Amino acid sequence: MSNETHSQPSSQSTPEARTGRSAARESGDTGQLADAAVHSGPQSTDAADGHSSPTADDGGVHSSRLVGDTLAIGYPTTEEPVVEVDRIDLPAGEITALVGPNGSGKSTLLKALARQHAPEHGTVLLDGDDIDDFDSKPFARRVGMLSQEHESPGGMTAEELIYYGRYPHMGFFDAPTESDEAAVERAIDLAGVDHLREEEVGNLSGGQKQLVWIAMVLAQETDVLLLDEPTTYLDLQHQLQVMELVQTLNEERGVTVGVVLHDISQAARYADNLVALKDGSVFDWGPPDEVVTDDLLETVFGVVATVGYGENGPTIMPHHPVEQ
Ligand code: ADP
Repeated sequence: MSNETHSQPSSQSTPEARTGRSAARESGDTGQLADAAVHSGPQSTDAADGHSSPTADDGGVHSSRLVGDTLAIGYPTTEEPVVEVDRIDLPAGEITALVGPNGSGKSTLLKALARQHAPEHGTVLLDGDDIDDFDSKPFARRVGMLSQEHESPGGMTAEELIYYGRYPHMGFFDAPTESDEAAVERAIDLAGVDHLREEEVGNLSGGQKQLVWIAMVLAQETDVLLLDEPTTYLDLQHQLQVMELVQTLNEERGVTVGVVLHDISQAARYADNLVALKDGSVFDWGPPDEVVTDDLLETVFGVVATVGYGENGPTIMPHHPVEQ
């Protein structure tokens, strides 16, 4: 853990967030597809240089939908936790982007929020309830997660894959209802993949596959959506398409979004809040124009850059890597 990590503002504390670690969690045990349809997630906060919380628990409209409290997250092969976060919030109805260099813990943290990876310590709360207390399907009806790695099944059409997003809403042997069909059609329409529905997923390009997987998680129709690098592998046009789709879901349906983004400029443009991770800790969080600074780029990303501020938020002009 970095000593540079700032301490968390006390305004982040909520009484209900102070419980201990939960027991081992139930995981989606229905195979990878259903498993993908049985996860979703939040946003974060924790340390900052004096910024007030974007999710201040003031009873206002910006209460946090998803909260990670005193999380320590590791792997069986790591002696120490790779992520230690006092507090992370995904404010309701907002887009929160997790940013940071490779290996800073973004995916690990998102997985913990999505109930895909149990922390060694700490609790994740969904609207104040411990996520470990949910059965898998009710949880999956609330929180959708698109992981970075997903194996595309052979011999399955795009439309068949998208129907897996309805799994949390259906009984095991149930045929899709009219409402399932309507949700799938909405997802296909939103993701712009109508022309791909009869195609075998295995034959699609990387970018097309990604859009189909996004449609699958949209069909889940959750009010929290967690996305791990959803624009990776996409050309610029499709990157913008995905980010605008996320924005539409957020603005028109009030979906709370937690998204890991590699590209800090993109994160600054689309997110209401950024959570900047460094060495497994929250280095800073807050609105993009407060978080994205020359210092952040140098200290967290190892890049000497100039940050400008325009109508669409901060713009970054990278100059050169920090000398080692
Ligand atoms: P990021 O998403 O920011 O690139 P990750 O969350 O993937 O970071 O990784 C954080 C740290 O956890 C890294 O040091 C990485 O090597 C380690 N890590 C990630 N996944 C595993 C795993 N399955 N087993 C052991 N260590 C892991």
